Amino acid sequence: FDDRDGTIWFNGELVDWRSAKVHVLTHALHYASSVFEGERVYNGTVFKLTEHTERLHESARLMGFQIPYSINEINAAHDVVLKANAISDGYVRPLAWRGSEMMGVSAQKNRINLAIAAWEWPSYFSPEARMAGIKLAISDWRRPDPACAPVQAKAAGLYMICTLSKHKAEQEGFHDALMLDWRGRVAEATGANIFFLMPDGKLHTPVPDCFLDGITRRTVIGLAIEAGLEVVERPIMPEEIAQAEEVFLTGTAAEVTPVGQIGNDTFTPGTVTRLLIKAYDRAVGRTNDLTAAASTSAS
Ligand code: PMP
Repeated sequence: FDDRDGTIWFNGELVDWRSAKVHVLTHALHYASSVFEGERVYNGTVFKLTEHTERLHESARLMGFQIPYSINEINAAHDVVLKANAISDGYVRPLAWRGSEMMGVSAQKNRINLAIAAWEWPSYFSPEARMAGIKLAISDWRRPDPACAPVQAKAAGLYMICTLSKHKAEQEGFHDALMLDWRGRVAEATGANIFFLMPDGKLHTPVPDCFLDGITRRTVIGLAIEAGLEVVERPIMPEEIAQAEEVFLTGTAAEVTPVGQIGNDTFTPGTVTRLLIKAYDRAVGRTNDLTAAASTSAS
């Protein structure tokens, strides 16, 4: 991904995409002292930009460092990078990390760097194409106890568990993994939160007490309530999954993604999932006609 045209905002300047480099002795590379965001651009505008920027600041705080740019400065830098790269429907990746001035676990005085990269990433799938549903394997790796890691931070170190889980799931022919938490409760997928439509007609979703309370999760809870659904946040055990009538994931990249299988249990994405996909598309202001694009779906 490093060999392409474009510019990346890097510590206050726009630099050529191929030149946006760090030193091999960067603290973040050795000790995972980095935090990041994943944001989506619809019609040239980042959906919920300030919430993402606030979470970036909060993730850094939880990791014990302060980003040397304010929320407003970071938001303004987004405008610069989106315009410079002419992004209309895309993805943005802000990243903050401890630099390479000193080597060692502490390196408290190392510079805190900030980069913001953005690239065009249109959505190819119509609501109907997305209704096929993805397959999730239940991971052996679990989300950690909040006493073991700053679990509310969108911190690179916590993604080691996600990568391990996703690789194993993919090797076994699944699209993604569902991770349980340290207590054995249902937690989340490797880059998205999870919801279950249960036989009581309500949407059930795990309490985000040891994993990310996604911005999309909160948006979809609001949309579900607006649509007259009841949403229950509670501990969910894996034994309950089989009863679910519909299952879907939520995330900035995933948006609302129907789930067709978890382990050996299968589900048929239905009316509630479809309703929320459409409500989310409206909320983000998606204007391109995805139904017409269904036959051109990439991979
Ligand atoms: N959990 C994990 C592990 C994630 O990486 C993401 C994506 N940021 C989410 C949940 C969903 O968060 P959001 O809706 O804010 O994108």
